[in-house]
Amino acid sequence: MIDLLTTHEKLRILIGAFERHGKQLYIVGGSVRDVLLRREHIDIDLATDARPELVKALVAEVQPEAIYTVGERFGTIGAIVDGYVLEITTFRSERYKPYSRKPTVTFGTSLEGDLSRRDFTINAIAQNPITGELFDPFDGLGDITARVIRAVGMPDERFGEDPLRMLRAIRFASQLGFDIEAETAKAIGRNHRKLRLVSQERITDEVNKILASPSPGRGIRLLCDLKLMEFIIPEFLELRGTQSDEYHHKDVFEHTLIVLDRVPADLRLRWAALLHDIAKPATKVIADGEVHFYGHDVVGAEMARVILMRMRLPRETTDIVRKLVSMHQRVNLYESSWTDGAVRRLLRDADDEIGLLLSLSRADITSRRPRKVEYALSQLLELEDRIKSLVEQEEVKAIKSPLDGNDLMAIFHRPPGPWIRDVKDLLLSKVLDGELAPDDKETAQRFAQEFLNRARL
Ligand code: ATP
Ligand code: MG
Repeated sequence: MIDLLTTHEKLRILIGAFERHGKQLYIVGGSVRDVLLRREHIDIDLATDARPELVKALVAEVQPEAIYTVGERFGTIGAIVDGYVLEITTFRSERYKPYSRKPTVTFGTSLEGDLSRRDFTINAIAQNPITGELFDPFDGLGDITARVIRAVGMPDERFGEDPLRMLRAIRFASQLGFDIEAETAKAIGRNHRKLRLVSQERITDEVNKILASPSPGRGIRLLCDLKLMEFIIPEFLELRGTQSDEYHHKDVFEHTLIVLDRVPADLRLRWAALLHDIAKPATKVIADGEVHFYGHDVVGAEMARVILMRMRLPRETTDIVRKLVSMHQRVNLYESSWTDGAVRRLLRDADDEIGLLLSLSRADITSRRPRKVEYALSQLLELEDRIKSLVEQEEVKAIKSPLDGNDLMAIFHRPPGPWIRDVKDLLLSKVLDGELAPDDKETAQRFAQEFLNRARL
């Protein structure tokens, strides 16, 4: 980060301009933390004692590619300089409550004061961009080495000021694979109810970051252990202690976290993994000494829809997750005895989501009892092979009924109505099963006639 600041012409001039005006300028926050962790960090966060008007003027002098002033009221000027996204924020002194109706920002003059109002020690390290010297009054470096998230100052106070920090702690724990320091964790457990003060949008944003992180299972476990989940997805808490069927040797909660960690880091898949068994507690029945979860996929799909609407996820994501939850059992239950028609039906129903569905199933079945995994995996590979060869042979998605609605109305002299759909479904089904050629209108008409007679439609 330092190197790039001094090797890029405009950045170098900008840093020099602050110096000339007798202003302090430090790299802070995530930029310093991520460089110390050898993680990529694209933005450069900077802090200064210069007021926003001066920052704006100094930035404008180097003719940046862009300048953003939306955050000016809160002391932040954004800019793109030499292709880098800079956020330069004026030191703050007083602590403020971002969720209160009138957040008041008081600008400060000291770096230490600014660092003391940051959330966690690992985020409260500053670095001089010219000398590389670190300012680390809260031993953030020690906590980076020990891999812990620790609140700056008194944790209860800090979470009281801004309850979003409780979620941020867990988000950093799953992004970085760190533990939350014991006192900080206890304070989250004590203050969890304050999460109600945080907007749904910001909660969802953090939960998405947890799910997209390298260790989503760690984050979800922490959300439950530290009770924040009560205000996010209370339904999820029911999975704890729900003993699963004979396939799963752990409870549904533990199984879900393993599946979650095993699916690729695609947000749709992560949400589907999180919610795939959400209806197991609600559908559990014991019959003849065996546990069953009849219809947990269908009920689960509806629960997933309700949960994701509440989370205000985009409609498209919600639809895909709902579909993956509703179809996950179908892939899991694949048997070699399936006809090509059955495989084609699965393909058509899954449509563009077939790849995601197979990924989800792979993670799901490999989380079973070890001795069952080998068989389940070989079945999945077989299904994948059959799908591949079917797709190569034919354009399964393009298969249609040989007769469309207009043909049917003309042939049978009937008005439009639900009968058309029934007949088309029947014909499509015959084509998928290979009993009817897609262009054989004559046989199609015969099948349709028989069906209408039989159904007395
Ligand atoms: P990333 O951008 O990778 O999510 P970050 O640490 O840069 O991580 P930002 O949200 O960009 O996080 O915030 C930049 C810095 O501002 C943080 O490192 C932290 O020092 C401070 N900060 C952000 N949000 C808060 C908050 N709610 N309370 C206190 N300090 C905060
Ligand atoms: Mg950042």
